[in-house]
Amino acid sequence: MKEFSEETRRKMSESAKKRCTSEWRKARSLMQSTPLDIELVKIMYKSGMTQKEVAEKLGVQQKAIWRCMKNNGIKSRSCAVRNQYGNKNSYWKGGKTLSDKGYVLIKCHEHPRAKQCGGYVMEHVLIMEKYLGRYLNWFGPGHSDTEIVHHINGNKTDNRIENLKLVTFKEHMEIHNAMRKAGDANVKTAKIKVG
Ligand SMILES: [Zn+2]
Repeated sequence: MKEFSEETRRKMSESAKKRCTSEWRKARSLMQSTPLDIELVKIMYKSGMTQKEVAEKLGVQQKAIWRCMKNNGIKSRSCAVRNQYGNKNSYWKGGKTLSDKGYVLIKCHEHPRAKQCGGYVMEHVLIMEKYLGRYLNWFGPGHSDTEIVHHINGNKTDNRIENLKLVTFKEHMEIHNAMRKAGDANVKTAKIKVG
């Protein structure tokens, strides 16, 4: 068996002493008690972010993300498949279709709202959530605080982030009422009204 050097033994005893300080214990219990939103970790990681980026965004150590993923069976990917966005990303599962209301739908079984729509989620919702790094607030359809993604130019399939505006259900109603009043040709006026 390997003998530890004087120096190593000194370091080991110092580290043991440090672990006994109340600050260290406090810091450790604080870190361990910080609840991590598993679903958020999953969506962020699967959208192409690294564990380190997810950790930074959530203000925790990378190790906490690693532990959370391990405990919840979220498979880590190899570095090679990072940055595979759009339909190349495993998160999007490939399936893309149009809803009967003219919205682009993406097959995304992992999403909490996928069940409402046969495993599909509206693409503009996914794009906004990816941009925000969180799920939209959802209190049910028609709830005034439910978050909606509005298409600024009126084109429901134009899901570029610059064409998307995050609003509450109430604000969205106001936008569309104003648009109706101003006439569809004058969308800009309606936009200014709601700000
Ligand atoms: Zn709208």
